[in-house]
Amino acid sequence: MSIDRPLRLTSIEVREIRMPLVQPYRISSGLETERRIILVRLTEEDGTCVWSECAAMSTPNYLPETVDTSWLALEEWLIPRVVGREFEHPNAVQPVLDRHIRGHNMAKAVLEMGIWALFAETSGTSLAELLGGKATAIDVGIALGIQERPDVLADVVARCREEGYRRVKVKIGPGKDVDYLQAAREAAGDNLLVMADANSAYTLADLQILKQIDALKLLMIEQPLAWDDFVEHAELQKQLETPVCLDESIRSVSGLQHMIALASGRIVNIKPGRVGGLAPALDICSLCVAHRVPAWCGGMLETGIGRAYNVALASVEGFILPGDISPSRRYWAEDIVEPEWEMSEDGTMRVPFDRPGLGVAVKTDLIEKYTTRCRSRQVR
Ligand code: MG
Repeated sequence: MSIDRPLRLTSIEVREIRMPLVQPYRISSGLETERRIILVRLTEEDGTCVWSECAAMSTPNYLPETVDTSWLALEEWLIPRVVGREFEHPNAVQPVLDRHIRGHNMAKAVLEMGIWALFAETSGTSLAELLGGKATAIDVGIALGIQERPDVLADVVARCREEGYRRVKVKIGPGKDVDYLQAAREAAGDNLLVMADANSAYTLADLQILKQIDALKLLMIEQPLAWDDFVEHAELQKQLETPVCLDESIRSVSGLQHMIALASGRIVNIKPGRVGGLAPALDICSLCVAHRVPAWCGGMLETGIGRAYNVALASVEGFILPGDISPSRRYWAEDIVEPEWEMSEDGTMRVPFDRPGLGVAVKTDLIEKYTTRCRSRQVR
């Protein structure tokens, strides 16, 4: 896919919105009932504009970044770097944002991803095509928050099976693990894949429980140990048959190199927000392909804007397992895009290669309604 011309950003608007989730979402380290989200609108010299979404959550219980730290990083350090600057290619954005600014990957990513979309939009091509995506439909998985009891979880999993999902991910934590996963496994039947995500809730002292989980022969167990660890995950992987998947630990290509060198896991969950944008996400994916490490696209309770980026990314070769790319209605009474993201009866989602940019229109009136703060920066 060729890029027609360089881009120059003339205006960047940052907003915080608050959207109620249709169901509260509990993980081992916290509960979300509404989502505070930073949205960014980037405008190019010729007037073309796109929306992008920051993955940061309201509290630092997933990674250190939050909505408030991302807002600060965007306003103080990152937006001044890109507004008014000319870019020849979206690959040129990450080095500009990374120079002498450590971390803040989610804040960097919202700008980097938006610039990819802007290049797609101005070249009249879909984001998926610009990223080199090939798959016209992607397998849909669902992530289930920690439920009240195993039988409640079993009912939810049975419904997911009826709806056609390809894979369920069950959030677990100490005391809400083996029985819950057993119930999920039974309710899932033969065709629905089951995996667990611990969000760093265990240590090597919990080996006995982790061995019981291993006996359930799940598709994988995601980030069982500390959020920044590789060494203990390697120790654990040696003792489990179930593949360990790393999420929180992989925040750059270097993280994946650590995982491969130490054999800390066998699968990777790729989230563009966590790794600083789409270019690093593609680099991580390429390294996964080279080392035959299966990858899949994770989710951060995104609106339809963030989902558009994930859908495009998941169409790239190397994303071989179903992603956390659920339809809009799983999270929102009304999504802020149209058409809303939908899952086909066969458990897949169509990738909009036939539409330029994100492939969905953004409902600006609804964004306006949910906005709690807004700032913009322009150049003449
Ligand atoms: Mg995870």
